[in-house]
Amino acid sequence: MAEQEYDYDLFVIGAGSGGVRASRIASSHGARVAVAEEYRVGGTCVIRGCVPKKLLVYGSHFAEELQDAANYGWTVDKMNFDWPTLRDAVNKDVDRLNAAYTSTLENNKVERFLERATITGPHSVKLADSGREITAKYILVATGAWPVTPTFEGAEHCITSNEVFHLPELPRKVIIAGAGYIALEFAGIFNALGSHVTVVNRSETLLRGYDETLRDRLLQITMARGIEYKFNCPFEKVVKREDGCMEAYLKNQPDPIVADVILVATGRKPKVEGLGLENAGVELGERGEIKVDEHNRTSCDSIYAVGDVTDRVQLTPVAIREGQAFADRVFGGIERKVDYDCIPSAVFSQPPLAAVGLTEGQARNRYGNVKVYSSDFRPMKNVFGHRPERGLYKMVVDANTDKVLGIHMIGPEAPEILQAAAVAVKAGLTKAAFDDTVALHPSMAEELVLLK
Ligand code: NDP
Repeated sequence: MAEQEYDYDLFVIGAGSGGVRASRIASSHGARVAVAEEYRVGGTCVIRGCVPKKLLVYGSHFAEELQDAANYGWTVDKMNFDWPTLRDAVNKDVDRLNAAYTSTLENNKVERFLERATITGPHSVKLADSGREITAKYILVATGAWPVTPTFEGAEHCITSNEVFHLPELPRKVIIAGAGYIALEFAGIFNALGSHVTVVNRSETLLRGYDETLRDRLLQITMARGIEYKFNCPFEKVVKREDGCMEAYLKNQPDPIVADVILVATGRKPKVEGLGLENAGVELGERGEIKVDEHNRTSCDSIYAVGDVTDRVQLTPVAIREGQAFADRVFGGIERKVDYDCIPSAVFSQPPLAAVGLTEGQARNRYGNVKVYSSDFRPMKNVFGHRPERGLYKMVVDANTDKVLGIHMIGPEAPEILQAAAVAVKAGLTKAAFDDTVALHPSMAEELVLLK
């Protein structure tokens, strides 16, 4: 088919972070672009992920601020929290962002189809509602990922992070399955809002991949705050009682645990089901992810994929970079590849964790001779607030070159501080460069230039 005979130059499936970025950049390079979205423009991050979650973190954090207020001379007569008010305000902001993302597509002349699209061939898709067949020179799959729920009896009574933003009321007792990002972020939110939280994991590890000392610190602080943990306890079954409560039967636990809500946060898998990838010979990997090369191209030359559906790094800013690189290269003739080295990440638990670069273990495996510097300190705010909780910052350094290989932090505002420090790690700066920088006093961030 000649180029001009295609309906579009690019057809994007999925209007999330990666899909929207790719659409608007391709359009800015002069491509005729359409995008199909079966749910809401904005994707997981905006609609049911990072953004509403962060607003809930902010909302729940007031509990601590209000408790501490008295030490600063404030009289807070009565603390009262209303879940529907916070929930509805958060969902209203999601509506605002959904509209903003929609305008972005409109302003960039990207045509939108708010329905499901299925691939019917290397250059064609079919829309589910209208039944219309559309052709495109290139197709980009940016359908993201979807929560995985392990198989056990009664799993249908549990909710996932898709539903948690719409709970009719604040649960008195919550069980959270999993001990990864989503589990620990919601454990912090519900705990701060006054729910009793039990985190249940199949293994004895929380936040796999993060520095061990930081993980221990998080465990210690959150247990002191009242979160209960059950490790090595896979779910056996969940029974919904007549009064609406759930009984969770766990391996290695003699009695069931009772809760109003069970949130399953046991990972997310690429969303490929029913996409018709087989009609174009698009190959999947072992985890069901779309296999792509360094340019985001699948095993079918005209089909590309970016973001969580490729299961490389499941983070919004990475999907955005992949979408940008794809559109710049294919439609703008700009040779661009995503650099996956030194991607900073954070867990918005309470307190939060943040990290960039190699952990101590990874660095020892790769470089052999490494030095570790740390600061274990009680933030001024916590001292004044009579909170025993301590922050911990660690820096992993190549002993031969003095180059900083990784920074790992737990403590108030750790993600905000780490983003700036990540620039230095990415730039390959040395420990001496940190030491040469004068401390900004009094701050928590100054610990980074005073590490011993
Ligand atoms: P994670 O991969 O972070 O954690 C999954 C958890 O579930 C682990 O504790 C894991 O246990 C457990 N688990 C995995 N499979 C099973 C199973 N079959 N049965 C029982 N337990 C299981 O997943 P999340 O769902 O928390 O988050 C998904 C992804 O979303 C993250 O990887 C991250 O990329 C992204 N995300 C990022 C955020 C951020 O940047 N702040 C926030 C939220 C999500 P074990 O460790 O023992 O294997």
